[in-house]
Order: sequence, then structure tokens, then C-alpha cells
Amino acid sequence: MSNYKIAVLRGDGIGPEIMDQSLRILNKIGEKYHHNFSYTQGLIGGISIDTHGIPLTDETVEMCLASDAVLLGAVGVPKWDSLPGDIRPEKGLLKIRKSLETFANLRISKAYPSMLDASPLKKELGEDFDCLIIRELTGGIYFGDQFNDGKVAYSVMKYTEEEVRRIAHVAFKAAQKRRKKVTNVDKSNVLAVSQLWRAIVVEVAKEYPDVELNHLYVDIAAMKLVTNPSDFDVVVTANLFGDILSDEAAVMTGSIGLLPSASIGDGVGLYEPIHGSAPDIAGKGIANPIATILSVAMMLRYSFNLDVEALAIEKAIDDVLIEGYGTKDLVKSGSKSLSTVELTDVILEKI
Ligand code: NAD
Repeated sequence: MSNYKIAVLRGDGIGPEIMDQSLRILNKIGEKYHHNFSYTQGLIGGISIDTHGIPLTDETVEMCLASDAVLLGAVGVPKWDSLPGDIRPEKGLLKIRKSLETFANLRISKAYPSMLDASPLKKELGEDFDCLIIRELTGGIYFGDQFNDGKVAYSVMKYTEEEVRRIAHVAFKAAQKRRKKVTNVDKSNVLAVSQLWRAIVVEVAKEYPDVELNHLYVDIAAMKLVTNPSDFDVVVTANLFGDILSDEAAVMTGSIGLLPSASIGDGVGLYEPIHGSAPDIAGKGIANPIATILSVAMMLRYSFNLDVEALAIEKAIDDVLIEGYGTKDLVKSGSKSLSTVELTDVILEKI
């Protein structure tokens, strides 16, 4: 029996509710496939400010660094929004991402058949949409030199060969576990930084002959994402381009409650839903746990290499959605409109 040590940061708002249900799913996977998942719990966000005076303590960071992966619920509650910058809940998020040195952000966007009416995409276009966007997270224009004197301003987009190489490897490896296609998105017709980026991606591609590589300029990619969504499997791109494209892809899914994410680097990976702490529905038992459960599936696949187990979760969720079950954000009323716990029960049954 293999052992995996997971640090669990449940966070604020709906964070604890959706995390508790996700751990039920993980325990079921452990039982069925003979793995032992053990958990250590830590505080992050507003709950940590209440308890320790800061959004994430060094002890909690140490606990995360000593584990095999980190699962995070969500942070942020309105009562803490007026606190000074350094002790706001979101600072905890930034600190954990930085401490784990995760340089690649992975977001899956997928059009579920039962959600096609909620998606802004035309039904016939959305049907086969299932795309993984890999965004470089710690370099590029958000981290380059900046200047603004009121008359002149600039922000520098800079990448080193090594920064591009390591994210390209993440993309090709991820594609090997999917439909074996990588679309590199850049702006190499104009930007020198993109020319280096593309050259390195092409070089790394030679190590993955089973994966097809194609290239798109970012403006064309933004269009194709809505006109030909099913053309995309894995997209790899720089921080700025990925920030924009991943939000475009997210909205095409039709519900924020279905979207998981992973932030990975060379060490411990961090897995969390893309939505926030949803204070408007916290404590009501109606939060959609699917994004967090799918984040668990990403953890199994990307941190532990447990593809069969990840697929078992994803397949169960596909089935449940196809049968029309959901929380209130997905199914407004009727016998298939379930609470957080009831929806998890149905997913557990499928597994
Ligand atoms: P949000 O994602 O929390 O909520 C937006 C809307 O989506 C709300 O109506 C909410 O009820 C709904 N929603 C979100 N997740 C849902 C789920 N799982 N099931 C059902 N409905 C869901 O965004 P917001 O309202 O802008 O932010 C609320 C708080 O969360 C803020 O303090 C913000 O800073 C924080 N936040 C945290 C993260 C994070 O932890 N990664 C991300 C975004 C926002």
C-alpha cells in the first residue's frame, strides 16, 4: 500500500464545506485502490488572521513543504477586506504559492454536456471542448522591470531559456496523459521574447516525438478558442497571455463551480478550485464541491502519477452531470438539485 501525505488548507467561506466533501472522495479512492492518504490540517486566510494575526504562518508553510501535495479550499471573507495590505487573507495565497515555488499553473476547462445551455458557446461548438491551459506563473511581464514617470512608462517581458524549457516539459508531459497535442501560444511575429520562447519549445518538442506541436499567435488563439474550441488539447503560454486565455476558457464552461486548478513546480504541488470563498452561500450547505473534487483528481494525476484513480473521479463526475444532478448553481430546482453533501454522495456511489 502506498502512502501519501497531504497538507489540507480548508480556508474561509465555503472552503471547509467543499474540502470536507472532497476528502470523502479521496478516502473512497484510497479504499478502492489501496492507497493510504494521510492529512495534516493548517489555517490560511481570514481564519488564520483570527487565530494567529496573519494570513499564513511559517509553521503552516513548513507543514506544507513537508507533505507530498497541498489541497486548498478558498480564502477571503468580507469582514477582513478592509484590513491593511499585508494582513489581508489573499496574502496567504500569494505566500503559499511563492513558498512552494510553483512555476506552472494548470487549468482545465471543459464543456459538460448538461452545461452547454449555460455556456456562451454555441451548443455544437462546445460539445468536444476539453482544454488544459498551462500558464507560466513566476516570470514574464508581471515580474519584469517597470517604470512610469507620468510621461513614459514601460513593463519588461523577459524570459530565460531555462524558464521556458521547464514549462515546456510540463506541457509535453501533460499532453502525453491527454490527447497528445500541444498548442504553443506566443507573439513571435512581433516580440523578441516570444521568438526565444518558441525556439525553446520547438527544441524541447524533439524529446516528445509522440506529441504533436503547433503554434498560434495569441490574438489568433483568442479567436480560435471560441470559434474552434475542440481544436485545443494542451495550451502552453507565457504568464500574461495565459492569464487572459485561461479566463476566456473558464467562462466557456458555463459554471465557475466546475473548474479545478493545479500549480506545480519541481517540489510540492498546490491544488485548488479557481473560484473564491463564495461568502454569499457559505454555511448554507449548497456550495458546489465539484471544482475541489476535480482538483483532487489533478493532484492524483500530476503529483502522484495515479492516472486511473484520477480518471475514476472525472468519469464519476461526468456521469453525475450527464444524469442531470447538481447543486443549485447548476440545477435550479427539482429532485436533482442537491445539497453539497448529497451531490458528493451521488459521486461516491458512481466511484
Ligand atoms: P467567488 O468565486 O467567491 O464567487 C463568485 C460567485 O460565484 C458567487 O455568487 C458565488 O456564490 C458563486 N460561487 C463560487 N464558487 C461556488 C461554488 N463552489 N458553488 C456555488 N457557487 C459558487 O468570487 P467573489 O465573490 O468575487 O469573491 C469572494 C471572496 O473570495 C473574496 O474575498 C475574494 O477575494 C476571494 N477569492 C478567493 C480566491 C481563492 O481563494 N483562490 C479566488 C477568487 C476570489
